[in-house]
Amino acid sequence: MSKVITVTGEIKSEEMELTLPHEHILVDFIGVDKTGKHRYDSEAVKKVMLPYLLEIRDLDVKTFVDCTPMYLARDVNILRELAKQTGLYILTNTGIYGREPYIPQYAYSSNPDELANQWIKEFNEGIEETNIRPGFIKTAVEAGKFTDIEKKLIEAAAITSKETDLTIATHTCFGEKALQILDVLKDYEVDPQKWIFVHANIEEKIELISQVAERGAWISLDGIGQGQDDNILMILETLLEQDFHSQILLSQDAGCYFVGEENGGDIRSFGFLLTDFLPKLQERGISEEIIHELTYTNPAKAYSI
Ligand SMILES: [Zn+2]
Repeated sequence: MSKVITVTGEIKSEEMELTLPHEHILVDFIGVDKTGKHRYDSEAVKKVMLPYLLEIRDLDVKTFVDCTPMYLARDVNILRELAKQTGLYILTNTGIYGREPYIPQYAYSSNPDELANQWIKEFNEGIEETNIRPGFIKTAVEAGKFTDIEKKLIEAAAITSKETDLTIATHTCFGEKALQILDVLKDYEVDPQKWIFVHANIEEKIELISQVAERGAWISLDGIGQGQDDNILMILETLLEQDFHSQILLSQDAGCYFVGEENGGDIRSFGFLLTDFLPKLQERGISEEIIHELTYTNPAKAYSI
């Protein structure tokens, strides 16, 4: 029976129900050298973010996937307390975000196995002295050809996924890079269904997005509510016509409390997908069955182990 790991423990996959598969509660963009818990007041963060989570709970959202990685203010204690206060299931992640200035020095001097062992340890024992375990692996790449560090981090993710069955979500944005990542995963015999093409909606060539879908990966259209919805609708309808309905994830990359900004800065609601975007899909004749698959079934499959 498949399960999902949340910050408040394991659940059955079908308990995820209505899910936002790529959002953020808290992010600190200052970089690996300066970030840390001293940079924010966790009580203030919780107080600011609680109403945003209550809003989506009241819109029937059951599960919230928090995609903030290590060294960008992944704070599992905050996530757990907010999960308890709202009754939402929240997922957090392990892994290293492979873009500067977020890559720690030790990642350059470690090999993929050493990095994977650190992440597998988080999976087995919990994150930072807690018993909170990651529900997926988060990595990131830039555009263009693989750099050594990017490839190493993808290899470490592959090793971790093979060992734990956790799904890998990679900030990728571009189809060419997605195909390169899938080649590395293939070398490690990681099933493409264990990989999420994050920010796929940034890719301008739909045929490249389709090629990635053809390989079996998850296509994350996670920029909803950022002024690009017509484009996202076009990508979505194209992928649906091509029968990729069982590989698509919809989310907003919304939130969040921005560390260093007054009261967390300009926070975007998590409710837009439910209140504005899904009704648009209905208007365009997309069936209830497909909408249910996109928002319930697919996230549960994508994050199941
Ligand atoms: Zn994100």
